[in-house]
Amino acid sequence: MSDRDRDLERLLAVQDLDTSIVQLQHRRDGLPEALGLSRVEAQLRALAAEEADAAARRASLAASQTELEEQIAALTERRKAIEQRMYAATSSSGRDLQAMSDEVRHLTDRRAELEEQELAVMLDQDPVEAELAALRARGAPLEQRAEELRAQVAQAQSEMDGELAEATAARATEAAQLPTGLADRYETLRARLKGTGAARLIGNRCDGCHLELSSVEVEKIRALPPGGIATCEQCGRILVPV
Ligand SMILES: [Zn+2]
Repeated sequence: MSDRDRDLERLLAVQDLDTSIVQLQHRRDGLPEALGLSRVEAQLRALAAEEADAAARRASLAASQTELEEQIAALTERRKAIEQRMYAATSSSGRDLQAMSDEVRHLTDRRAELEEQELAVMLDQDPVEAELAALRARGAPLEQRAEELRAQVAQAQSEMDGELAEATAARATEAAQLPTGLADRYETLRARLKGTGAARLIGNRCDGCHLELSSVEVEKIRALPPGGIATCEQCGRILVPV
């Protein structure tokens, strides 16, 4: 085997490795498990938004309840104070006592109103609590599924990372042995032609662009003098007869 044939064979090996590396990266980026995971994660995000909304409504109801409880406590205090004054006011006039008694009745009525409001606010919280429980129940299996998928993605990616590292190392070894001129030409073509800089000539067909070459052209390529490098006249890739 001539030096040129050895170089071209090595060039094809580099090309094949480059193709495998690109395919591996593509598969790694588009793992079905990763796709499934992003779907589950989107569902979880939607659930979390619903849960945050319900939690905000619950918090607002709880704040209303606290406020009503404070108002009720203040009314109770005021009524107690007036009642104490009434019982202690042996010397008070009948009119004062009447005024105080009216005030106590007014406070009692007002407190009853507030207590009714508080009860309504407490009842309003029940459906929100149920909603939150339902959302959490829906989230639990999704969380579990996401965990499983995350583990599967990590496992598949680590396997592919291993394959990628192997292919990248093999590629570097092969490429280091190529003559600089040929390697540079290959890299330039590869960058320009969707990752394929070198193609096999199979019969009279270029394996890079899949077009057939004229038989005259094929004859010329097969009869190239030592050191000569053929190029596909249609796609411009380095052409290696096999
Ligand atoms: Zn071609």
